[in-house]
Amino acid sequence: MEQTLSIIKPDAVAKSVVGKILSRFEDAGLRIAATKKIQLSRADAEAFYAVHAERPFFGELVDFMISGPVVVTVLEGEDAMTKNRDLMGATNPKEAQAGTIRADFAESIDANAVHGSDSVENAAIEIAFFFAQKDIS
Ligand code: ATP
Ligand code: MG
Repeated sequence: MEQTLSIIKPDAVAKSVVGKILSRFEDAGLRIAATKKIQLSRADAEAFYAVHAERPFFGELVDFMISGPVVVTVLEGEDAMTKNRDLMGATNPKEAQAGTIRADFAESIDANAVHGSDSVENAAIEIAFFFAQKDIS
């Protein structure tokens, strides 16, 4: 079974829509294999988003990701990575299709409610960043 990593970002946690977002994953046939609520440190956020270090928005992205707690989840199922990206919608919520998580719960390209791994290879790296194998079932 394929696995992918989801992060419910600080804006969505602050709005108390964690349960609604997790329900969307389960309703789409994705299983929650592990989940936890954590506060990222600046070092955590910089390391997690290191691929974007040279982008002009990197500082804002890191500031936003440490602005409050996040909920990190391992999702498991057939085509889990692609399924999660489809449920999330476009990076910019203004461009996200109706019915997607970002269209329904996100305000802006910075505060865009969720992160999802963008490849199966990155999913494995991102899952290992947050979870020990013994915490995934
Ligand atoms: P994520 O990696 O968070 O799942 P994504 O894969 O849809 O989102 P990326 O291109 O990986 O989008 O960008 C990572 C994050 O950086 C985005 O979720 C968004 O919050 C922020 N970001 C991306 N592009 C911009 C931009 N042009 N201006 C401001 N923030 C941006
Ligand atoms: Mg991305």
